[in-house]
Amino acid sequence: KLSLRGVRKSFGDTEVIRGIDLDVGEGEMVCLIGASGSGKSTLLRCINLLEPVDDGTIRLDGVDIAEPGLDPRPVRRRIGIVFQSYNLFPHMTAAENAMLAPRRVHGRDRAALMGPVTALFRRFGLADRMDHYPDQLSGGQQQRVAIIRALAMEPEIMLFDEITSALDPELVGEVLDVLRQLHRDGMTMILATHEMGFARELADKVCFLDGGVILEQGPPSSLFSAPSQQRTRAFLSRVL
Ligand code: ATP
Ligand code: MG
Repeated sequence: KLSLRGVRKSFGDTEVIRGIDLDVGEGEMVCLIGASGSGKSTLLRCINLLEPVDDGTIRLDGVDIAEPGLDPRPVRRRIGIVFQSYNLFPHMTAAENAMLAPRRVHGRDRAALMGPVTALFRRFGLADRMDHYPDQLSGGQQQRVAIIRALAMEPEIMLFDEITSALDPELVGEVLDVLRQLHRDGMTMILATHEMGFARELADKVCFLDGGVILEQGPPSSLFSAPSQQRTRAFLSRVL
């Protein structure tokens, strides 16, 4: 489904992604772990072309989307991203927030979108919150609306960047439940996460990033229980 080879990205003189190879199969959940500054967010932003890459290829179903000069917008529709800060528009209801991008991009009208968007709110337990404004929702509910907003574009792949990090601990579970359900439904996804328990439980593959490279990757059973690299062991001993 998605295949990165030799991906590099610099900011000024500093190379922060230094040759990343990564394969993500259809329906897989891949978790990126690693210390602050190791490049997790930058890698996610490169994958959906929010940052242009300096070198390497990113193949989506065989086609290199990172080729210089290509229009990044169609790719951003196929690869959705959700951030730690959910940034819903405060003057729009949850449902209006979710319909905004498909209305603008696909030119679909409210009536046509109401059905699929309502189905998403129902699927994630928010049917009774569709007409609420963001300040009438908890942080966990707002983050779930942000996920629904991304899903409303019908992406093929979803990227999640530390989406539970800003939440009060008691709200983390409801957002992780959404990811759990998406995974069960077969969504292909890549998560940067500090939730090691979650990664251990659900990831098909865990990648440990260190200084802009994937130092080690594998199924959670081996990466967490028997890491082969000293730096992975040191990181895990700090966070587990
Ligand atoms: P965290 O766990 O804190 O979110 P991260 O693994 O997501 O960290 P990145 O945000 O990808 O790390 O940052 C990787 C490196 O790139 C850091 O040294 C950061 O300072 C640098 N960096 C990221 N974005 C920019 C930018 N727009 N301009 C310059 N440097 C940047
Ligand atoms: Mg980050």
